[in-house]
Amino acid sequence: MDSACCSKTCNPFTGAEANAVGVHVDKVSKTYSGVSVLSNISFDVQPGEIFVLMGPSGSGKSVLLRQIAGLERPTAGSITVDGQDPSLEETRDRVRLALVFQAGALFNSLSVYDNLALYPREHRLGSEAEIRERVMHALQILSVEKAASKLPSDLSGGMKKRVSIARALVIQPQLLLYDEPTSELDPVMAATIDEIIATLKDEIRVTSIVVSHDRDLALSIADRVGFLMDGRLIHIGPPSGLKAPEDPRIADFLNPKIDIRNPRFKSLEA
Ligand code: ADP
Ligand code: MG
Repeated sequence: MDSACCSKTCNPFTGAEANAVGVHVDKVSKTYSGVSVLSNISFDVQPGEIFVLMGPSGSGKSVLLRQIAGLERPTAGSITVDGQDPSLEETRDRVRLALVFQAGALFNSLSVYDNLALYPREHRLGSEAEIRERVMHALQILSVEKAASKLPSDLSGGMKKRVSIARALVIQPQLLLYDEPTSELDPVMAATIDEIIATLKDEIRVTSIVVSHDRDLALSIADRVGFLMDGRLIHIGPPSGLKAPEDPRIADFLNPKIDIRNPRFKSLEA
């Protein structure tokens, strides 16, 4: 840790206080048409921390991420990013947060370069030359600058994920939210994405919330892990807790017991 770091600004994660922001989630609940999806969730994420949010499909991970991104508002409770409500327009002008979507959400009709330039052009974040510099820098950080003129449909799954992350970097974010960044990737490519997330937090001094059901990702990059089950945060702690989880619900999720008498596995018996 930097020896110049004083007790007021120091944090145990990266010394990332210059850019990264903290997140405060306080008693958040969300219902859609009266159906409860998130229930009384509270946790904090420190500036510069990598917080991994795990849980089975349908447990509410993406919904929680959308509330933190300010795309939706909780039915009850509150969320702040750097002390501000992320759903307010003025917060978006002040706090730079970016969401890396599960499926990449790139426009197939636009080149990679134009996909990345879209937001800065629309929001007039500089001259075309300045935007070019931002876009190429973001592509370079992810080592995909050669893809600039390609269409997303010409890229492999791993390249697409890198480009999606690069697109998030164009706004020089203080908070990066990732939704399943390693889904649909082979283990080698998934490990590369893990490394990228870990490197980014140091290189661009960013706070990261990573939604995933990938235990290897959590073990390799998380400072802390939260576990969602049926819309409730049932556990929060260091990733080492995933090695031998005490909570049987978490143990069952991480090490599912496969019953080979189940008709789905008939072919394995043969
Ligand atoms: P996951 O943990 O797999 O990301 P989600 O957060 O996507 O789960 O979804 C949690 C639950 O909320 C699911 O039952 C889903 O059907 C429901 N849900 C998500 N978005 C909406 C919506 N806009 N309207 C109604 N129900 C929703
Ligand atoms: Mg999801």
